[in-house]
Amino acid sequence: MTIDQNLIAKITAEVMARVQGLEPESAHGDGGIFQTIDDAVSAARAAQKQLKKLSIEKREELIAGMRKAVCENAEKLAEMAVKESGMGRVADKVLKNKLAAAKSPGTEDLKSEAWSGDRGLTLIEMGPYGVIGSITPTTNPSETVICNGIGMVAAGNAVVFSPHPTAKNTSLLTIKLLNEAIVKAGGPANLLTAVAEPSLSATNAMMNHPGINMLVATGGPAVVKAVMSCGKKAIGAGAGNPPAVVDETADIEKAAKDIIDGCSFDNNLPCIAEKEVIVVGSVADKLMSYMQRYGAYLISGQDIDRLAKVILTEQEELAAAGCTEKPKKSYAVNKNFVGKDAKYILSQIGINVPDSIKAVICETEADHPFVIEELMMPVLPVVQVKDIDAAIELAVKVEHGNRHTAIMHSKNVDNLTRLAKAIETTIFVKNAPSYAGIGVGGEGFTTFTIAGPTGEGLTSARSFTRQRRCVLVDALSIV
Ligand code: NAD
Repeated sequence: MTIDQNLIAKITAEVMARVQGLEPESAHGDGGIFQTIDDAVSAARAAQKQLKKLSIEKREELIAGMRKAVCENAEKLAEMAVKESGMGRVADKVLKNKLAAAKSPGTEDLKSEAWSGDRGLTLIEMGPYGVIGSITPTTNPSETVICNGIGMVAAGNAVVFSPHPTAKNTSLLTIKLLNEAIVKAGGPANLLTAVAEPSLSATNAMMNHPGINMLVATGGPAVVKAVMSCGKKAIGAGAGNPPAVVDETADIEKAAKDIIDGCSFDNNLPCIAEKEVIVVGSVADKLMSYMQRYGAYLISGQDIDRLAKVILTEQEELAAAGCTEKPKKSYAVNKNFVGKDAKYILSQIGINVPDSIKAVICETEADHPFVIEELMMPVLPVVQVKDIDAAIELAVKVEHGNRHTAIMHSKNVDNLTRLAKAIETTIFVKNAPSYAGIGVGGEGFTTFTIAGPTGEGLTSARSFTRQRRCVLVDALSIV
């Protein structure tokens, strides 16, 4: 009789896992990547149990390893993301990866609270949720995995990721690299998992899996609605359409440069990036002239119409049953142009420009689809308004109630305050490019999951915790 060594090893591992109180792994993932959602969830559950046994100091060592691994692979991940998704700019993605590695808060973000008095000591601590399902976008395929990974592990969780299928290899490689770093630093395998073939049905299976305790969705309105309808604690980080408002008191040259830098960063993929400019008429020409100095190419007249035909797809909304009105036209963004270079976009309408052109600008009416739609490409409509009142009114309207991000260039504190109050966005950037709002050239930590709809704001480790109260009566208060 021959002895099957593999079978013996498998049985021994399962027995040891049960003895140690760990759930047996149903499959051995390759750096956290499994064939089925069941296997990805069960491996993450086992890993989270092991993480709970480690000290917070040790957790911080794992995070230091994760940060280092990203910095060492920032270029590789950036190149892969641009190649795979066909979107964005490598240099900007390198910066975004390094930013996520350096400025996503770790365990220092977890705060305890205490009340002490005659009746003893009551403590509130931030504990892990368990296993979090994180759904990530194609626009930030490594960055979201990095900042969610760091924050969720810092909070004591394991994560099952559902990456966008069009950038899956980049997201899966990021997961593998982070897992390797965790294991190298003495942490458990499979703290971050995913399936090898991400799909909408795999995401749905993950969301509804009983082994997932909490959901975090970073993406458009559909996925935010999906996680909020799941009956689990959910964080939804949804779409934006950030207006950049310029009034007559602004430093116009600086405003022009900041707007072009912000709107062209990673070819406008960030949800926080300037998507339309609203400028008080008296300074509009000056602003557009400086924008051209800082890398914008101005188009007008028929070129705007031709560009619209290329980057938008026209859809006719069916009139309601029995309604005799003409069908209303609506527009969708042509995904083939999302995150593409301005030079490439212009070439589609027969305009050839040098590489130094970072954005296309054009003057439009307030209701032009370029203003209304979240284009996510370096095409920036500029709308003139008569005064600050009209600017505020329009900015609120075109932000669509996303309450995501707004930018304003002004030296008038009253005007700045009025827009901030009226628009109620999670991020409000004053006199800087939009990316200052996530810690590039501005104070504060970073995140690539900005949760407007569910209200957590810029998420960090503490967003991924549960508050727990521990009460000791009539002791441990020492005064
Ligand atoms: P997307 O909504 O198409 O996809 C995001 C993720 O959700 C993907 O993993 C996708 O597979 C999944 N998904 C989509 N619809 C789903 C559904 N009905 N059920 C389950 N899963 C679903 O978005 P995208 O194109 O990858 O990213 C761009 C969008 O994300 C933009 O609207 C942008 O503003 C937004 N975004 C927001 C933030 C933020 O922090 N608020 C950050 C990045 C991107």
